[in-house]
Amino acid sequence: MKYVDEFRDRAKAEFLVKDIERLVAGIKRDQSRPLQIMEVCGGHTHSIFRYGIEGMLPKSIELVHGPGCPVCVLPMGVIDDCVAIAERPNVIFTTFGDAMRVPGSRKSLLQAKADGCDVRMVYSPMDALALARRNPSREVVFFAIGFETTMPSTALTVLQAERDGVENFSVFCNHITIVPTIKAILDSPDLRLDGFLGPGHVSVVIGNTPYEFIARYYKRPMVIAGFEPLDILQSIWMVLKQIREGRCEIENQYARAAPESGNAVALEAIARVYELREFFEWRGLGSIDHSGVKMRAEYAGFDAERKYAMPNLKIADPKSCQCGEVLKGVIKPWQCKVFGSACTPETPLGALMVSSEGACAAYYQYGGVRRRSDEAAVEAGAA
Ligand code: SF4
Repeated sequence: MKYVDEFRDRAKAEFLVKDIERLVAGIKRDQSRPLQIMEVCGGHTHSIFRYGIEGMLPKSIELVHGPGCPVCVLPMGVIDDCVAIAERPNVIFTTFGDAMRVPGSRKSLLQAKADGCDVRMVYSPMDALALARRNPSREVVFFAIGFETTMPSTALTVLQAERDGVENFSVFCNHITIVPTIKAILDSPDLRLDGFLGPGHVSVVIGNTPYEFIARYYKRPMVIAGFEPLDILQSIWMVLKQIREGRCEIENQYARAAPESGNAVALEAIARVYELREFFEWRGLGSIDHSGVKMRAEYAGFDAERKYAMPNLKIADPKSCQCGEVLKGVIKPWQCKVFGSACTPETPLGALMVSSEGACAAYYQYGGVRRRSDEAAVEAGAA
């Protein structure tokens, strides 16, 4: 197949791995720890485990899985707010499929549906708007999540609803922004990252320039990466090349899809419909300043937060849940006490086990359980 198989070529992958080994061997570094490269995006995490990329790399490179899965960072309190809206008698609550199973403190949206609420899965906000048109006597609410990747489609749907005079449609806006999140990670004392694989999909919208502070002020290299195995290997190679040459720059491996200046139409829609929140609460990461957006007052009629009363409570994760440490890359998913036992994709305790982009779900699906038992066996043998 053209344009997919080319990015999964085994011979080229092996060639790149050899060059990565050569590059890393020539880097003067602290030998007591591996070089840590964080992939910010959940899509990269999924590809890394799907294609076994981590296992191909020399032991001197560690990939740290970042917080770029929007479903995984939804706090319990937000799910409780969704359930409270869905429980209203005249509401049709719409959401992307993977948000259905994220646990709230009382129940997930899937459990709310089983209890009789009208919760429906949609593939886009436009599907929710179509539902509102077909059901003029009902209130249709769309649960809007995601980084800048999905912000434009929600914004354009709101603008369409306004143009068409659809009054029974609103958005529960939980969109988040990538730049303050990366800054919070760089400021975290727990982490000593040496470089980043930048989020390809977000960069299609926002371009390269918003990341320049990472190179300029934090002196870390970043390479915006595509999602196929050769994209990821080449991006790791590019990060290592910068480290070897003592450079810190924002480079773009994914130029075939992510233009330097982003997408002007999408950015205009974002600026028109949203404004920054003072802070946003992240699962496991706590509150991060200016890391989320809300609807501007001009669009109050489409803002579910203004239309409906919600509990709006901060709910702590269960004690056994270590999602925050995994999200910050402090521990690996299989090091969580409940990974593969109390927390599985069928019975997720934390959100990282729900979405296919979640680090725990990816580890579980592509060999994480086996890896954990292998290491346990090695430890038992050593004892
Ligand atoms: S195994 Fe479950 S509880 Fe533990 S970090 Fe992963 S998602 Fe969270």
